[in-house]
Amino acid sequence: MDNLIKILQSRNIHPSYQRLKILEILEKNKDHMNVNMIFEELLKEIPTISKTTVYSTLSTFAAKGLVHCLTITPEEMKYDYRAKPHHHFLCTRCGAIIDIDVQCPYADTMEIDGHSIEDIQGYFKGTCRECLTHNKTQTLK
Ligand SMILES: [Zn+2]
Ligand SMILES: [Zn+2]
Repeated sequence: MDNLIKILQSRNIHPSYQRLKILEILEKNKDHMNVNMIFEELLKEIPTISKTTVYSTLSTFAAKGLVHCLTITPEEMKYDYRAKPHHHFLCTRCGAIIDIDVQCPYADTMEIDGHSIEDIQGYFKGTCRECLTHNKTQTLK
């Protein structure tokens, strides 16, 4: 918990119990979770929490740059907790969202033509490796 308190304080976020719990879930899962997934995890520990609280906490986190909002799936916002900027690949068959490391010069300098970059997100869409392999074995049979 101490570590989580430090993370929040370093971003000037007051470390309330609820915020710490939400951060703990994000850190444990390190995945791309939507509000419902986070809310349901949270209910196990704080049965009185409301979804509004989860929403407002996440937007505070996003505003302070602690989480990134992913809009690769326009029908639902996903939250990403990983400090380093990275791109995302969406499988249009199974819906998997896969992290792709950024290998562009701007990611190192966070600057482009004199403009300061705060966030870098590239979206790629296609068929993931698992779906491709699965498809191949099916055609062989
Ligand atoms: Zn897939
Ligand atoms: Zn990601």
